[in-house]
Parts: sequence; structure tokens; C-alpha cells
Amino acid sequence: MKKADIGLIGLAVMGENLVMNMESKGFTVAVYNRSTEKVTNFVQGRAAGKNIIGCTTLEELVANLEKPRKIMLMIKAGDAVDASIDQLLPLLDEGDIIIDGGNSHFPDTMRRTAYVEATGKLFMGCGVSGGEEGALKGPSMMPGGSEAAWLAVKPIFQAICAKVEDGSPCCDWVGENGAGHFVKMVHNGIEYGDMQLCCEAYQLMRDVLGMSAGDMYPVFAKWNEGELDSYLIEITRDILGYTAENGEVVVDKILDTAGQKGTGKWTATAALDQGVPLTLIGEAVFARYLSSLKTERVNAEAAYPKTIPAYEGDKEALIEEIRKALYAAKIISYAQGYALMRASAKAYGWNLNYGGIALMWRGGCIIRSAFLGKIKEAFDANPELENLILDPYFKDTMLGLIPAWRNVVALAAKSGVPVPTMSAALNYFDGYTTAALPANLLQAQRDYFGAHTYERIDQPRGQFFHTNWTGEG
Ligand code: NAP
Repeated sequence: MKKADIGLIGLAVMGENLVMNMESKGFTVAVYNRSTEKVTNFVQGRAAGKNIIGCTTLEELVANLEKPRKIMLMIKAGDAVDASIDQLLPLLDEGDIIIDGGNSHFPDTMRRTAYVEATGKLFMGCGVSGGEEGALKGPSMMPGGSEAAWLAVKPIFQAICAKVEDGSPCCDWVGENGAGHFVKMVHNGIEYGDMQLCCEAYQLMRDVLGMSAGDMYPVFAKWNEGELDSYLIEITRDILGYTAENGEVVVDKILDTAGQKGTGKWTATAALDQGVPLTLIGEAVFARYLSSLKTERVNAEAAYPKTIPAYEGDKEALIEEIRKALYAAKIISYAQGYALMRASAKAYGWNLNYGGIALMWRGGCIIRSAFLGKIKEAFDANPELENLILDPYFKDTMLGLIPAWRNVVALAAKSGVPVPTMSAALNYFDGYTTAALPANLLQAQRDYFGAHTYERIDQPRGQFFHTNWTGEG
């Protein structure tokens, strides 16, 4: 039998679907799973009659691969990846490639790339987004690691990934060592922000306008036909319109405590490490933590009972303002995410293609949206763009959104409805567009209690001054 073009380890939902996707594009795939009954079940079931070779040992897997061997891990992130690398390395030859397609943390991928390269083999960390359906039909893929591996892997990955309308693949080389997993992490952080923004719009409509889920269905349906056209608005529409067979509106029955797997936290932590104000994603992570304090929240509401005043104004006009507030905050979220990528690229020596990243996120992944096409245009026009809101298209757009955004955040504050991401984004915008912030006072305070010194507005930067504020010797 012909040797396989690629091997895949890990036949859980993502792995199985990626294998089916690869096979459907004409590649022969050899597969292995730690619990070998999964291999048997797969090759006798879903994979029967396909160009898929089931292997019950790693040696068998390696023996079935064309050189340079390409082995993709789709297994639980963490120690399992290190253990699998250690098992594979003695079986591989120089130039063979291990690809980690799981949700690994980018510092681990940086470490693993160096470790594997030191043995003469190559390593790639590839972010894969789109869930199980994406894996089967075309995910967004963000590969990084040993650049020498990319040429060998490119034909397979660009064949199986999502494509945008003009056929461009949502997969291209991101950068060295951890760059691919880093960009996937930022994608996940942005996903946290986009989801929280939908939730805030929902809560405003529910609690200020008294709308039911069914009332909101056509609102999100309409939003999905305009600037906000995106996967997350689309599924929010469908969730709000979903009624179970017993007539129950399921979203109304779901406990309001959010889970998380940690990639939003990684993104916020990376921003703290790089000194980048990534406030919207940070608030989206904190909003999930706050939601998990269900019992405390119930007790606190009893201690501070609230009555949200019935909205007296034009309801349709407010819905449109909420749409604009969501859109403005979303632009800020992407502006902040891109600022984090710029700072990290500088710190880690990555040469990131910002327009290319927008294209990779344009299709296949959870944050896919029409809007990413505009981001691609902005960075293609100016790869050095300092902040997305300074691009001419986004500047014009923002100017049209700001009054509504301010109204919505003010109304939420007056009504006692939390909008942590919409308001954090507005505060960032107001701070970023203010030439004179009060940090002069802050520097004076630091100098007062800690002699931390300050720079002066009437002296060149880099000269530091101290004042004896108390006059004491
Ligand atoms: P998963 O539940 O994260 O992992 C299950 C797979 O990992 C099984 O094949 C399991 O083998 C294997 N595994 C666990 N520990 C192992 C070890 N110590 N050594 C070898 N294999 C081990 O599977 P998944 O949901 O398909 O996700 C795979 C990867 O893709 C993960 O990193 C995940 O974060 C990432 N991802 C998932 C999604 C999604 O929507 N699910 C989306 C994007 C990325 P056994 O059968 O022997 O237990």
C-alpha cells in the first residue's frame, strides 16, 4: 500500500475530523491513538474504505509515512504533548516534522521548537480553530515553528483549511517558534470579547427594553446582514430563536455561570506581560469569573435590590444604538488585540503579517466575520499601522458610532446594567484619544513617596527630576 502523506495522533473529535478532511482532499493518512481500540473502531467504521491506515504502535505509524515524515498531534494540550514528542523523537530521522495542532500555550511551543530542533528534527505549533465542524469542513489554521517544515506541510494544510470567497486559504505561515500558537491564543481572547459583547447587548435588550429571546431573534438576524455579519452573531440569533420540543426557550433555562478553558486568561496575561492595554478582553475574562459567583450575586442583589427603570424612549432607536455600541467596542477589541500582536512580535522577534492574520481569521474560525476583510485591507494598506482606529476607514466608521456608544454606556450605568466590555472599550478609546492624561499627578505622587523621579514637559525626554515635596532634609 502507498505510504501515507501525513500521520495523525489523537482520534478524539478534532483528530478524527481532520483525518477525514485530509483524506477527502486526496491525502493518505496514517493514524494512531494511545487507546488503540479507537484506532480499530475508526478504521472499521467511519474510515472504512478510505485511504486511512490504522496503526496500533508508534513504530507502525512511523514506518507507514513518506519522508520527510509529518506527524500531527491532536491530543490534550500539556504534558501529553511533551510525552508524545519524547516517544516519537527516537523513531524519527533528521528533517522529519512533528506538528502540534492542539491548543498549546505559546511559551511551551517556543520551548518545544528549540528542543526538537536540537535533535535535528523539525517542530511546528499550529493553532486550529473552528471546532469539530471546522476540522471536518475547513478550519482556520495558524502554523508557526520551524520554518523549514512549512514547505512540506503547506500543500496539505492549504488544501484542508477554510477558504474565503476568492478562494484564498485561511492558513499561511505565521512565524517562528511559538508565533502560530500565539496568534491562535489572541484569536481565542478576541473570541471571549466578541461573545461578551453579544451578551451585553442581550442583557440591555432583556433588562432595559424588556425583550424576550424571541423578540431578539429578528434583531440579531438583521444585525447579521450588515456590518456585524459574523459567525458569533449568527449563532446568537439561532440560540435566541431556539425552542425545545416542549416549547421551552432553552437559553432562558441555562444557569448564568460561564466556564472557560484558560486561553482568554493567557491572552490577558500576555498583555500584562507586554504592557499592552488589552482592557476589553481582560474584562471579558473577569466577566466570566464574576458570573461564576452565582450564590454571592444572588445574596448581593438581595442586599442591594434594584429596579431597572422602564425605557421611555424610542425602542427601535435604542436597539440601533446598542448595535452601534457593540460595533464600536468590537473595533476597539481588535485594535487592542492587534496592538498586543505588534508588541509581542517585537519582543519575540516574529515578523507577523497582520493582513495575513486577518485573512486566516476571515473564514473557518469562531471569530470569522465580514469585518475581518476590512481589517485585512487596513493592514495591507499600511502594515505599520499603529492602531486600527487610525486607519481612515475605521476612523470614519468610529466617528459614526461614538455618540450612540456613549449613550448606551451612560444608559447602562444609570440603569444599573453591567456592560463591562462596552464601557472598558469606551474608556480605552477616551484615554487613547486624550493627549493630556492625569499621569503627571501620578508621577508626582510616585516621586513624593518613593523619589521615583519624573520627566518634564519643558525638557527633553530622558531627563529625570526630583522634587523635595515636603521640604524635609
Ligand atoms: P481532547 O479531549 O482535548 O484530547 C483527547 C485526545 O488526547 C485523545 O486522543 C486522547 O487519547 C489523547 N491523549 C490524552 N492524553 C494523552 C497522553 N498522555 N498521551 C497520548 N495521548 C493522549 O481532544 P479534542 O477535543 O479532539 O482536542 C484535541 C486538541 O485540539 C486539544 O489540544 C484541544 O484543545 C484542541 N482543540 C479542540 C477544539 C474543539 O473544539 N474540541 C478546537 C480547537 C482546538 P486517549 O483516547 O487514549 O485518551
